[in-house]
Amino acid sequence: MHETSIAAGIISIVEEAASREGLGNVLEVEVEVGLLSLVDLESLRFALEVMSQGTLLEGAKVIFRVVEPMLRCNKCKAEWSVKREAVEGLDEASRLALHLYPEAVTRLFKCPKCGSMETEVVKGRDIRVSRLRAEEKNS
Ligand SMILES: [Zn+2]
Repeated sequence: MHETSIAAGIISIVEEAASREGLGNVLEVEVEVGLLSLVDLESLRFALEVMSQGTLLEGAKVIFRVVEPMLRCNKCKAEWSVKREAVEGLDEASRLALHLYPEAVTRLFKCPKCGSMETEVVKGRDIRVSRLRAEEKNS
């Protein structure tokens, strides 16, 4: 499952950051989730809960910040953001297409200005740890 490997990635990023900065247990972590990543937040939360056991992230409060995608038209250079409802309103087939071939995004959201399908994703595909609050290590 997709969410499991994302959770593993988040945990290793957090542990790396914590050891680099000499931090102890993580109290709170904020994760930015681009809507186009199509991650199921409930599954991700669950995966994090289970997989963080025994790590610095165990018991940490996880905050998800959903990022609306930003697209750019390669023809007229217009940039626009895709609303959350538009992504969540996609039918199953479109979601699957997006999941398997991220480039399918250009078929799903054409340029609102000139109608071109030559678009690219500026942001909204990534998942990243944006904030971290942890205890000082007292050893
Ligand atoms: Zn355009």
